[in-house]
Amino acid sequence: MKQGWKNLPIGCIIEKGGSSRDFKTGDWRKQKPEFIKDNCKNCLLCYINCPDGAILIEDNEMIGIDYDYCKGCGICQKVCTANAIEMKSER
Ligand code: SF4
Ligand code: SF4
Repeated sequence: MKQGWKNLPIGCIIEKGGSSRDFKTGDWRKQKPEFIKDNCKNCLLCYINCPDGAILIEDNEMIGIDYDYCKGCGICQKVCTANAIEMKSER
């Protein structure tokens, strides 16, 4: 019989859960955000809203995009009011 979640003992720990850090999702992308540093005002709205934690920050400044994890959803571009992120085709 196939085992389901109801068969798990209460309070058990699943050790092989892993971390999203182990799964690079950048190759899912169809569109790529490009950072235009000269336009950036460092409001960090892109950082707060990126669902993949793919906005790179150093000393409280936006410094770029981690393409290993960015899925190209375009949220960062939508929230940026300074035209500092442009979505381009991956091709
Ligand atoms: S939302 Fe735009 S202006 Fe604000 S930090 Fe990000 S890229 Fe810079
Ligand atoms: S495109 Fe989406 S996943 Fe990539 S940096 Fe912007 S908000 Fe994050």
